[in-house]
This record gives sequence, C-alpha cells and structure tokens, in this order.
Amino acid sequence: MWFMREDSISVKKIIRSCILYYPAMSMVWALLITAVVMHFTGIRAYAASESSDGRAPVKICIDPGHGGENEGGLWEDYVEKEMTLIVAEAMREELLKYDGIEVYMTRTEDVDMSLEERVDYAAEVGADFFFCLHFNLSADHDMYGAECWISAFDKKYARGYDFASIEMKLLTDTGLYDRGIKTRLNSKGTNYYGVLRMCDLEDIPGIIIEHCHLDHEEDVPYYDHHDMLVEYGKLDATAVAMYYGLKSDELGKDFSDYTYEPTPVPSKCVRPDETEPEYVDVSFGETEYVDDHYEITADISAYDPDCRMLYYSYTYDGGAHWSKRYRWESTIESGLDPSADDGENSPDDAGETDTNSGTDTNSGKISVRLDLPAGRDGSVRIRAYNLYNLHSESESFYITGLTEPVIEEETEPEPEVEYTDIIREDEDETDAPEHGSVLTDKKVAILLGILAVGILVMTIVLAAIIVSNSRQGRRRR
Ligand SMILES: [Zn+2]
Repeated sequence: MWFMREDSISVKKIIRSCILYYPAMSMVWALLITAVVMHFTGIRAYAASESSDGRAPVKICIDPGHGGENEGGLWEDYVEKEMTLIVAEAMREELLKYDGIEVYMTRTEDVDMSLEERVDYAAEVGADFFFCLHFNLSADHDMYGAECWISAFDKKYARGYDFASIEMKLLTDTGLYDRGIKTRLNSKGTNYYGVLRMCDLEDIPGIIIEHCHLDHEEDVPYYDHHDMLVEYGKLDATAVAMYYGLKSDELGKDFSDYTYEPTPVPSKCVRPDETEPEYVDVSFGETEYVDDHYEITADISAYDPDCRMLYYSYTYDGGAHWSKRYRWESTIESGLDPSADDGENSPDDAGETDTNSGTDTNSGKISVRLDLPAGRDGSVRIRAYNLYNLHSESESFYITGLTEPVIEEETEPEPEVEYTDIIREDEDETDAPEHGSVLTDKKVAILLGILAVGILVMTIVLAAIIVSNSRQGRRRR
C-alpha cells in the first residue's frame, strides 16, 4: 500500500496506535535489538534481518525531487520536477507488487515543498529509508553519468552506502557511467545536502540518487523517452527490493536470499576528498595516421590516496582548448595491469580513517588513444579528474613530427586528389575543345558547302555570260 501525505497526526492517535500495536512494536524492537547484536557480533545477516517475511512491513519514503515553483534542472524540453515524479510513481507502482512493504511519497502532485517538510513527513510515517530522486546538470555541461550522495555519518553512511552500491550496480549495468557514491560536507562540518542533513536529525538513512545528466550527449539516450523514466522507477524499486530482500509473486522475483557485505558503521565522519590527485603522468607510444589526423597511444597513470579517478581530458594546443572528458577506462586492450584499481565497492576502510572519501583508494592506469590534428606540432597535456571532479595535470609534452609525416604521407593521397582534380579539369578542358572542335568542323563543312555552292553558281553564271557573249560576238561578225 501507499499513503498520501497527511498534514497532521494527533498525539492521541499515536498513543492509541502504540497501545493497539504494542505487540507489533515489541516485535520490531526485538528485531532491531537482534540486528544490533548480530551486527556487533559480526554475523552477516543484515539483509535477512530487514526482510519482510513474517515481519512488520518495511516503510519507505520516496521523495520526487523539486516541485511547484522549484522546477529543478531545465534542459531543452525537460523539466526535472516532472521527470522525478514520473520515476517516483513508477517506483511506487513497482514496489507495491512486492510483499511486506509500505510506500509513502512526499508529493504526488506538482507542489512546492521545503526540504524540512519532506523529511518531517518521512519521520511522521516512520520511514525506514528516504529515497530522494533527482536528475543532474553540470555548470559547464561537461559531466555525465550516475551518482549517489549519502550521509557522511554513522549508520546513515553505512546503510546509505549499502543501498547505493546496489543502486549504482543496476544503473551502471544499463551503460551509464559510474560517478560513484559520495559524501559532501558544508562549512559547519555537517552534510552539505539539506535532505541528508535533516535525515540525520531524524536518524533516517537517506540517499540522493542522481540518475544521469540531462545536459550531456553521453547521457541523452538514457532519459529522452518517457518509458526510460518508468524504467528508472522500476530499477530504483528493484534496488529497494534487493536491499530489503523482498519477494513478489506478481513479478516472479524473490530477493529473500539476496545478501551483501554490510558496510561497517564508521566511527568518524567520512569526509569527501578535497584534494587533487597527487600526480598525473603520461608516456606516449606509437603514432598512427588515421584518415585526416594522428592517433597517438598514451599510457596515463594517476594517483590519489583518497579516491579513484573518474575522467581524463587532454589539450594539444598548450591548454587553449581541452577535449571532452573521457571515461577513465582503457580504450586499448594492452594487457596493462589494472590491479592497482581495487574497484569502488571496497569501503571497508571507511571507518578507519576520517579523511577518506569512504569509497576506495586508487592508483589508476589506463591506455588510451588521443586524437591529434595533422599538420602541426603541439603541446600536449593530460588532465586526470578524481571522483570529486578535482583534477591534476601532467607535464607538457611538445609533440613534433606530426607535420613531416603528414607531408610525406599526404604527398601520396593529396597529389592523387589534385591529380584527380587536374584530370577532371583536363577532362573538362579536353571535353570542351572536343566539343568545340566538333562544332568547328560542322561550321567548316557548312562554309565549305556554301563556298562550293557559291563557286558552282558563279561558274554557271560565268559560263552563261561567256556563252552569251560568244553568241553575241558571232552575231556581230
Ligand atoms: Zn535535482
């Protein structure tokens, strides 16, 4: 079932509910205590302890981001507040096909709601988890991919990370780029995002799901159709069902055996990474002339003690222009050793340090091909961006020799082109004179014909005159 937002819940109702549902509440408390005991004794059964079989239903609150005057991201014809509502409704619809779950929504219409109102409502209904749905835009329209933001504190971090790991797995399985699971703090040292700050106050695990970026061509195929938004809703619902180990006869899905390694509850705040990667290095390999440009092999390595790399970009004109950001993934199968990259799903050290991003430690190395324009030498530099979009640059490498091979290699194709053009011109020219010469011949023939006829006529006339004169002469004589 799902519930519309109620504006007030009277104290009487709460007391009456407590009395009526005392046995059920006792069960819930018993389960919670069991879960805590199991957690501290290291028993891996967090998913099972929250599963719905024979127990009080899980209560979740879905928050479609923005609404009313607060439209959220706007891109072309897309309005974020409308998109999040479509996703949220599909998520609710899908979740209601599972047993043992109660679904609440902060809004089901296009209305304004403050962040406080949203989280207060989740607290009122006793939500176990708060899911805040969003779509992203970046200031310079240069980012793409999906990401999740979670609280930096205690069990809100741990449970947030657990859910986000499942959510990100499903999102990236569709092909979206993995921008990670992150925390962000404000100057006061509390969560930067208001809903997460308020979820902390209410002690509810919460998550902000940024499904994809509206303003990047890379992500357009992932949202530009209504059906895709519905798919996001189903995907989000599946992640919830997996997280809580739910079962649906209607969907023929049973996640009651689904388990995962629970993230340990950190003892300190899990700080975001606020420092750039320590170094970016690059070594260049072979260059190859392809079509109208050069491709140069580049082995890029970067190291950040706090988190993994996210994108790379490059310049070939000394920094005047930078390429788009590319995925930090090898574009070349070169047998390089990616073992230094221990992946993102290893947050075990999250609790052991308070300066860690909580995701992973990474030194990454990728082998890629860079496109360089032919015909000019250039100063090449690489940027590597970490999970938090902080970047460092490599040294500059002045790459020469792009010109000379261009001339050498181009002397073969280019003269051909010129030759072809010349030939074409020659053909045109030869055609034209030929054409012209055919016309001239005709003219000459006609002229000759006229001349011949003229001579003939003249001869006849002359002959006639001569004959006539000789007759007259004979008569005179
Ligand atoms: Zn948003």
